[in-house]
Amino acid sequence: MFENKDQSRTGIETLGEFGLIDHLTKNFEIQHQSTVKGIGDDAAVIDSEANKKMIVSTDMLLEGVHFDLSYMPLKHLGYKAVMVNLSDIYAMNAIAKQITVSIAVSNRFPVEALEELYEGIAAACKIYNIDLIGGDTTSSTTGLLISITAIGEAKQDDLAYRDGAKENDLLVVTGDLGAAYLGLQVLEREKKVFEVNPAAQPDLENYTYLVERQLKPEARKDIVTLLNELEVKPTAMIDISDGLSSEVLHICKNSGVGCNVYEDKIPLDPQVIATCEEFNIDSTTIALNGGEDYELLFTISTEDFPKIKANPHLTVIGHITHQKEGVHLITRANTKIPIIARGWNALESESGS
Ligand code: ADP
Ligand code: MG
Repeated sequence: MFENKDQSRTGIETLGEFGLIDHLTKNFEIQHQSTVKGIGDDAAVIDSEANKKMIVSTDMLLEGVHFDLSYMPLKHLGYKAVMVNLSDIYAMNAIAKQITVSIAVSNRFPVEALEELYEGIAAACKIYNIDLIGGDTTSSTTGLLISITAIGEAKQDDLAYRDGAKENDLLVVTGDLGAAYLGLQVLEREKKVFEVNPAAQPDLENYTYLVERQLKPEARKDIVTLLNELEVKPTAMIDISDGLSSEVLHICKNSGVGCNVYEDKIPLDPQVIATCEEFNIDSTTIALNGGEDYELLFTISTEDFPKIKANPHLTVIGHITHQKEGVHLITRANTKIPIIARGWNALESESGS
């Protein structure tokens, strides 16, 4: 985790808009040959390699909607905002190379706060080998807004869309699910405790993994590299930002197929299992609907199974069926429950709905 820093306050107006942009971006180094022109002109220039496609994705994060600064340190926010975007590029089976970062800030933020935000952005760029090539800076009368555009590239044949899943393909997920959502629940609980008793120290010891997954998620660039090394091309792929059920439904709808997901195969961290027991909530519901895990969900042809089966990062959780069979969770008790968008209901059964 990142460390907190002492706060001094320099008003943004002391630097002016251009001085501020320069101050925040001067230590970013260009790493890619394809970045012909970065920050400093009217637009950035990127060289497109022969036989490669460029991939572009944008996300916007709004204070009060997507993040809460009372428990989200700005450095983490900067890092996470980049991860959210890179994850979409990796979900195309592409490699991200450049980002632009646009921010709207109110004058309640001192220069030091923006420095922290950009430290997080810089850390993400360094670790993920990304060039910051531009953006926009404007003032906001309300909260903080961050909009990032990520640009990547891939060979046309490597691209994995949401619509390529075929009957009998295996459904594979990376990492484990549900931790980021539980991390948020833990942080919100501690915030409420703090509001009642400001002297209370946050008790996060048993939830370190959950909180880390919420505050400092990592995008799965390693999986794109791994699949390439294993010579496995996913037939369809998507990133898990809204929870497993919604992403499974996206793949099935776009590909015109059905799917069976096996409850006992869904990968859960021991801290997720323990915390669900403590909070008396169903861990499967959390994995299906939690969101913000930024793992990848993909389908592969059964022929590729031997190549992935021993890998600790990858778990086969189901298989693709004919569309008319629908999209179902096969529970531990071997009952078949339809997976529905946003809000899988444990009480609803095939016959009862
Ligand atoms: P313009 O007037 O053409 O919009 P700006 O003054 O907004 O230009 O930006 C000057 C340069 O700084 C451009 O290269 C732009 O992409 C970059 N830039 C502006 N704001 C940011 C930011 N928040 N982060 C990174 N680069 C930025
Ligand atoms: Mg501008």
